[in-house]
Amino acid sequence: MATVPLSRVDQHKPANFVQCPKVSTELLDFRETYWKKKDADETIQNSMDDAQEQIFLGLKQRVQAINQETCEAGDENSFFLCDIGEVHRLWAQWKQRLPRVQPFYAVKSNPNNRILTTLAELGANFDCASKSEIETVLRQGVDPSRIIYANPCKASSFIRFAQKCGVKKSTFDNVEELAKIKKFHPESELLLRIATDDSSAQCRLSTKYGCELERVDVLLAKVKELGLNLVGVSFHVGSGASDLSTFYNAVKDARYVFDRATTKFGLPELRLLDVGGGFQLDCFAESTEILNMGLDEFFPPTCGVDIIAEPGRYFCASSFTLACHVIAKRAVENKESMLYINDGVYGNMNCILFDHQDPNPRVLYHENQFHYRDFGSSSRVAVPECPYKVSIWGPTCDGLDCITKEHYMKFDLEIGDWLYFPNLGAYTSSAATQFNGFEQIVDVIYIESSHA
Ligand SMILES: *Cc1c(COP(=O)(O)O)cnc(C)c1O
Repeated sequence: MATVPLSRVDQHKPANFVQCPKVSTELLDFRETYWKKKDADETIQNSMDDAQEQIFLGLKQRVQAINQETCEAGDENSFFLCDIGEVHRLWAQWKQRLPRVQPFYAVKSNPNNRILTTLAELGANFDCASKSEIETVLRQGVDPSRIIYANPCKASSFIRFAQKCGVKKSTFDNVEELAKIKKFHPESELLLRIATDDSSAQCRLSTKYGCELERVDVLLAKVKELGLNLVGVSFHVGSGASDLSTFYNAVKDARYVFDRATTKFGLPELRLLDVGGGFQLDCFAESTEILNMGLDEFFPPTCGVDIIAEPGRYFCASSFTLACHVIAKRAVENKESMLYINDGVYGNMNCILFDHQDPNPRVLYHENQFHYRDFGSSSRVAVPECPYKVSIWGPTCDGLDCITKEHYMKFDLEIGDWLYFPNLGAYTSSAATQFNGFEQIVDVIYIESSHA
């Protein structure tokens, strides 16, 4: 059992449990639900209509261009449609709800070049975790001062690489790392990563990284002893948190470290707070509200501390739609069958295994008809309108390669039909493998729906 960090028990009353409102994904997808909220301004609502029109057109043109009877091997492969306009909408939304917080996009969530260029142009900075991610971002012409090497456990050779490239900002959570940094990159601008209570998160990170508050003194003493440049504190609340109050509590814990560094150890005032990632569009309003509450209370605008974040999925999840081809079918019983599609958990849907995602298969094309956004044509649960029960499988020979064991369709889908999966941009192509000889150079079609 983890012990309760000091500040959570004594300093302040923690914020109450704040639930992420789960919108029904059965009808509208969460992107549409978010942008079409009653209080959203009209321009955004209209831009969403334009986005849907353009996404459909992009999917349709591509599918119509493929004749599965005659095409070259692989021409009917799954493909992504990426809406750069969505990235612009997300950026504007971030600026509106978190005006004090400069985002450092977490490259690992989707290192797509167009996403990186777009974000770099909009003014985002970048969170990298490895040599190759740093190289990718520097290739965009981004200044090394706009990169944070946010991996608390780095190979010595990678630290030397960061030093050579001029990437100074980095995180740490153990004394051993400090010794390496002292040796190879002593002018680093360091952020101490603290653990958070991420017990409500779907993807927990604090079991692997982050220093418990009880151990902070040991790290601060070492920083002092080695004469290193501690500039701030970072944390990550985990992904898919259902209790959003962890944002508030983590900010409060960070304040404790800020104070401790100066009062107990006489270190120079810290000047940077990094509130990490874990932002999701479906509860962005709620999580930013509680984060701002914490920031206003513990780091008011007058306190002179700069605030940054490391959002990953927020900027890429809703920007991508994946389209897949039905390559095989096995009838099981009357109105029940197994469908095999050309993408799966070893490809772009590895997010099922690694990221606890539950992609929603929707009918794109059946019997010469398109069904984009025909929300009645498929369902996660049995409903009278969808009498055909299917399980959906990926193309590899592994039994684990299953997208869903149970889904319901309005039509009796056939080989040659197409499915689409909305909001599939985060932790998908970034972790696809070549297992079983399936190439992973997935085509991406780009559109830019109207924004602003
Ligand atoms: C993965 C990761 C992120 C991004 O997390 P999201 O949930 O995609 O926002 C940010 N910072 C660090 C250190 C990470 O490991």
